[in-house]
Amino acid sequence: MNKLGVHALVWVGGWSRDECERAIAQTAELGFDLIEIPALDPATIDAAYTRKVLDRYRLGATLSLGLDAACDISSEDRDAQARGQARLMRVLDIARDIGATHVCGILYSAFQKYFVPPTEAGIAASVDVLRRVGEAAARDGITIGLEVVNRYESNVLNTAAQAVAFAQRIGLPNVKVHLDTYHMNIEESDLESALIDTGAMLGYFHIGESGRGYLGAGNIDFDRVFRGLAKAGYDGPITFESFSSAVVNPQLSGILAIWRNLWDDGADLARHAKGYIEHGLKAAREAQARG
Ligand code: MN
Repeated sequence: MNKLGVHALVWVGGWSRDECERAIAQTAELGFDLIEIPALDPATIDAAYTRKVLDRYRLGATLSLGLDAACDISSEDRDAQARGQARLMRVLDIARDIGATHVCGILYSAFQKYFVPPTEAGIAASVDVLRRVGEAAARDGITIGLEVVNRYESNVLNTAAQAVAFAQRIGLPNVKVHLDTYHMNIEESDLESALIDTGAMLGYFHIGESGRGYLGAGNIDFDRVFRGLAKAGYDGPITFESFSSAVVNPQLSGILAIWRNLWDDGADLARHAKGYIEHGLKAAREAQARG
């Protein structure tokens, strides 16, 4: 069965001890299996303390990040490639120390709007760095999720098909494709077939609405998303991602362009999302089993 998770920004904008405690307690209280903790700046995460709180609430964790321009492993700047590799390895250390199962996000380029397409040399460098990162992750049993995002957040992987080809170039069983309905809604021709075509390469999944608020309150056809997940045989984590100006992480909210208030009550939002995902998955599996 899929483990269900919620992104920490539904609760908190940072990761102080108080925020860590609050986010983990509220996630566990709603019956989620895991929390996804943003690790854009690894220095903000106290791994030992986080692990202690996760253990106390018997909650799992995953980490997500996007690289910044200075760490862009898809650039042709060797210093940036080296900084990017060091950043990713540092995040792997934190993942291991807190017991996280997955590290995902925009790990293959900077997390930003680009004004030029990627170069073949830059993509080759990204593949090489991620192969080294993937090998290190495998030693700790960590899965890497390459998140496909829309064209305004990276120029390297914007579609599931591109990500499958990229992951195949890396060629490691623990380096997988990470899809997100918010981005798929912008870039894919068909959500259900993109999921089916990704198939066993899918290793992590973000569920989010077109406006990033309540599931069902936007324009994404989630029936087709759930049927695609069922047909792909996907049994990995499904993390609910939602952002509102009610909870701000200055770094992340700015890049994501979270200017509007989509909700105020994170608990109500996350409770609703959990029920929505469970019902959707159940219906899709019934449809699949009984034709
Ligand atoms: Mn996402």
